[in-house]
Amino acid sequence: MSKKLLLKDAHVEGIRYFETYRKQGGYGAAEKAFKMTPEEILEEVKVSGLRGRGGAGFPTGMKWSFLAKPEGVPRHLVVNADESEPGTFKDRYLMEFLPHLLIEGMLISSFVLGSNVSYIYIRGEYSWIPDILEEAIEEAKAAGFLGKNILGSGFDCEIYVQRGGGAYICGEETALLESLEGKRGNPRLKPPFPAVKGLWERPTVVNNVESIAAIVPIIDITGAEYAKIGVGRSTGTKLISACGNINKPGVYEIDMTITVEEFIYSDEYCGGIPNGKKLKACIPGGSSVPIVPANLLLKTVNGEPRYMNYESLADGGFATGTMMGSGGFIVLDEDQCVVEHTMTLARFYNHESCGQCTPCREGTGWMYKILKKIEKGEGKMEDIDLLWDIQRKIEGNTICPLGDAAAWPVAAAIRHFRDEFEWHIKNPELCLTQNYGLANY
Ligand code: NAD
Ligand code: SF4
Repeated sequence: MSKKLLLKDAHVEGIRYFETYRKQGGYGAAEKAFKMTPEEILEEVKVSGLRGRGGAGFPTGMKWSFLAKPEGVPRHLVVNADESEPGTFKDRYLMEFLPHLLIEGMLISSFVLGSNVSYIYIRGEYSWIPDILEEAIEEAKAAGFLGKNILGSGFDCEIYVQRGGGAYICGEETALLESLEGKRGNPRLKPPFPAVKGLWERPTVVNNVESIAAIVPIIDITGAEYAKIGVGRSTGTKLISACGNINKPGVYEIDMTITVEEFIYSDEYCGGIPNGKKLKACIPGGSSVPIVPANLLLKTVNGEPRYMNYESLADGGFATGTMMGSGGFIVLDEDQCVVEHTMTLARFYNHESCGQCTPCREGTGWMYKILKKIEKGEGKMEDIDLLWDIQRKIEGNTICPLGDAAAWPVAAAIRHFRDEFEWHIKNPELCLTQNYGLANY
């Protein structure tokens, strides 16, 4: 059984409220942290090996240490709660059921970073959660954990919740900052990174909800103990939101030593595939990461079991591996059609492209149109190579990672499921009445 750090109290009735959270030991980590110096806390975070839980897996301690500190310029912590990656809903769970865990993590992080005004930028579709967060902020303030002179330290901190308007691109950190400044959410060129020039050109750390919540157990148990959980550079625990063709969709906390097979089939997690169907493929890290067929999902290229961690999922690189990403674990059973699935994603990325760069603006539209044609049985064999060509021209040639995110699912689908694309083209009449999965497994 995986160790629980973030969700250990998730089942406690009333844990959403300060009184219960406090009874369970809540804000104990903050009290401990305020007896340490910001440098000592930063060292604990570095030792913990925590990697950004939003998708990129960038070491959190390193990101914090990049924060510029020019004399007299305010610094900010911004929590990225614009969780919009298809298949990803773990931050929603944390904010909805454990808002004080996030607030406590923000308090400690703001203290380390010297942020007197910190923000939570939350996706517009999570319309009921800002009220929960704002209530928790008020409770924390009333108890002296936010506001002026927190715990007699002389440190002041306010937290504000800003609602997004429902655009996927506003989850990209620089687009988020633009939006927070009241502008259209267009990504900025990096560098400069937000750590140097962020919100209103001030040094800013942008961290995912889960990353900031993880600061609480790191301080509780120490960075060294946190680093002992997991394996290699995949330390601590990770939240996985599991969905698709599984018996038990939901949010699970894993310690990154379990195998993919155990995660899918064990009753502790996904509980297997409904109606005893076969596993066809999986997208383990949210829609932006490459799809992997079952044979490569359960084993690495070296024949080793594949584990639910950053290194093992990426084994073989983009050719055969995939990525941990945001932990949005989407399972496809034998009946699913990869062409249809890829087309749906292409439509999504085309719709969400901000339109600033030509390869993304034009390329995502072309990929969607071609995939739609193939899916409807109107494709030609050369369309597959055309698709391949377009995705290659997008990857690495855009301002922000949305371009790559649109290209990778198409590349992986063609690489692993080319026969399925060909079947659609060779069997136009069958495509209209059934899908490849149902016809061929
Ligand atoms: P990135 O690798 O460009 O950056 C990761 C973080 O490290 C950023 O905060 C960046 O500012 C910082 N960083 C990197 N190099 C730095 C340097 N030299 N100096 C200072 N800071 C530096 O990736 P990204 O654009 O932040 O994220 C991409 C990932 O987001 C994708 O892999 C995808 O999985 C994920 N994603 C998640 C969601 C979601 O809903 N959770 C949605 C879309 C995409
Ligand atoms: Fe906008 Fe796409 Fe360019 Fe990102 S890659 S800046 S979403 S056009």
